Amino acid sequence: MATTLDIARGNPNAATLPGTQGLRPAPVAESVAEPEKPTLIGLTREDMAAALSGIGVPQKQLRMRVAQLWHWLYVRGVSDFAAMTNIAKDLRGLLAEHFLIARPQIISEQVSVDGTRKWLFQFPPRGAGRPVEVETVYIPEEGRGTLCVSSQVGCTLTCTFCHTGTQKLVRNLTSEEILSQILMARDRLGDFPDAETPQGAAVPSEGRLVSNIVMMGMGEPLYNFENVKTALLIASDGDGLSLSKRRITLSTSGVVPEIARTGDEIGCMLAISLHAVRDDLRDILVPINKKWNIKALLDACRAYPGLSNAKRITFEYVMLKGVNDSDADARELVRLLRGIPAKINLIPFNPWPGSEYECSDWERIEEFADIVNRAGYASPIRTPRGRDIFAACGQLKSASERMRKKDRDAAAQVAAG
Ligand code: SAH
Ligand code: SF4
Repeated sequence: MATTLDIARGNPNAATLPGTQGLRPAPVAESVAEPEKPTLIGLTREDMAAALSGIGVPQKQLRMRVAQLWHWLYVRGVSDFAAMTNIAKDLRGLLAEHFLIARPQIISEQVSVDGTRKWLFQFPPRGAGRPVEVETVYIPEEGRGTLCVSSQVGCTLTCTFCHTGTQKLVRNLTSEEILSQILMARDRLGDFPDAETPQGAAVPSEGRLVSNIVMMGMGEPLYNFENVKTALLIASDGDGLSLSKRRITLSTSGVVPEIARTGDEIGCMLAISLHAVRDDLRDILVPINKKWNIKALLDACRAYPGLSNAKRITFEYVMLKGVNDSDADARELVRLLRGIPAKINLIPFNPWPGSEYECSDWERIEEFADIVNRAGYASPIRTPRGRDIFAACGQLKSASERMRKKDRDAAAQVAAG
């Protein structure tokens, strides 16, 4: 049986999934394309009302129209105005004339032996010169389905063990593009009402197929705060996608000034990529540490709003052989986190082509975990998922590149006419 479905990359084991045959990226436009219509996806209610007002929807209808659109977009998951049957045909036509609600293009969809899925989506250039590509991963487990969502194309940070860190930042994703990853995953899994789950897909046996969101894909979410915030508030809106904030986790490498805002303004769960217990080592592994060190980071964590035993911060710790995996490191980890309602997640290092590190031996990880367990943290080792399709933590990287200066200048000249 084919285990890896790779549609566009010419994988020899490739098989195609229904509905994705022949999907290939659109040819890259040589010149600057026509301006696109604005999208209605990823707008706050206020911005959506303003957009509708701008095309002449009467003031007194705005609330009702926003509620209708919100329901179609986020409860029913429609991506075509024609399907919005309780909106008059004329208005549907007007909306379609002025706005987009289309989904991104899928370039590839891969399915791992363990049921994990990875999609490569393509979004328009939006200032980056060419269309950009983004990876999103779906991890089915007993009783839950977690979607690992990207916030940026590439990353400005250069954590030495992370594949995304080798890709320069191409651009931030918009709130629409962050949400679209959730909408697309639900489309492909048949997770909207009236849709059917594709045959053979590994999904939780009951409940929502996408029940949890983790902002742990490509990029540093707190360096794209406004767009991430807008998208997550829409994802957790009770009249739409309705994901509980307890089931949305944002992971940061440690952008300290934005941590309190994450709690106050988004109110989701927080994960911290700690990975080292000494500043000299963390300066190398997670270089943002040179700006905000371990003490500053943990002080911000202690002050995170709403913490309790039921609402804990997750500390992620990648297991690197001979680098950060000694018993002394484990004991220091436990000491550092004392007093913070915390969960510890030990992540076996996932290698990628050209990476310099090795994953700690299994015995070492278990000994490290024992020390952490004895301090009262339960089952802290994260099982790697989707390794065969390079979908595991830190393996995501797209082929999108920053435009070279020569190309940027040429595009600017064309734009200037
Ligand atoms: N930029 C954010 C979120 C994306 S990374 C952050 O750094 O937190 C999601 C998690 O995967 C982080 O904890 C990251 O440190 C970890 N990670 C990165 N590369 C990895 C690798 N090769 N193996 C295991 N975990 C990795
Ligand atoms: Fe960026 Fe996170 Fe990777 Fe560091 S671990 S390079 S912050 S994506």
